[in-house]
Amino acid sequence: MTCLDAQTKIIAYIEGGMDKDTRIDFLKHIRSCDDCREELDIYYNMIEGMRQMDSNMPISRDFSAELNMRIDKELRQSRKKKEFFRYSIVIIIFGVLGFAIIGYINFLNILYSDEQNKIKEAQGEYYYSDYFDDVLFEPENRLLNININVDTTEEKSFYAKVREYNAVSNLH
Ligand SMILES: [Zn+2]
Repeated sequence: MTCLDAQTKIIAYIEGGMDKDTRIDFLKHIRSCDDCREELDIYYNMIEGMRQMDSNMPISRDFSAELNMRIDKELRQSRKKKEFFRYSIVIIIFGVLGFAIIGYINFLNILYSDEQNKIKEAQGEYYYSDYFDDVLFEPENRLLNININVDTTEEKSFYAKVREYNAVSNLH
C-alpha cells in the first residue's frame, strides 16, 4: 500500500468502514510509515474530539494513546487468526496422513490374505487345508507342536520291553 492509498483510507479506518484485509494492509503501512501515522493521528484527534464534543462528553482522554491501543489490538487479532489457521492446516495434514497410512496397512493385509487364498486354491481339489495349513503357513508353530508332543513314555516302555526280554532270556 502506498502513502496515497493509505491517506485516502484514513477516515474510512477511523469510522470503521473498511474490510478486514484492507484494514490489516492499512495498519501495516501505518506502523512502518511515520508520515501516514502522523496524518492518522491528526485526523483521529480531530474526528474523535468532534464526536465527543457533539455528544457532550468530557474531552480529557489521550487520543494518540487510544489510537495506538486500537491499532495494537487489531493487529494482534489478525495474527492470532493467522496462527490458528496455520495450526488447523497442520492438524488436518497429520490427520489425513494418519488415515492414509492406516488405509495402506489395511490394503496390504487384504492383499496378503488374498494371496494366501489364491495359494490355497492353487493346491487343487485334493488339497486338505485342515491338515496342511499349519505346515505350509505356520511351519514354526508346527515345529513347536512336534517338540511338545514328543512322548517319553514310549521310550521308557521300549527299554522296559528290552529289560523284560533280557530277563526272559536269562532264565534259559
Ligand atoms: Zn505512508
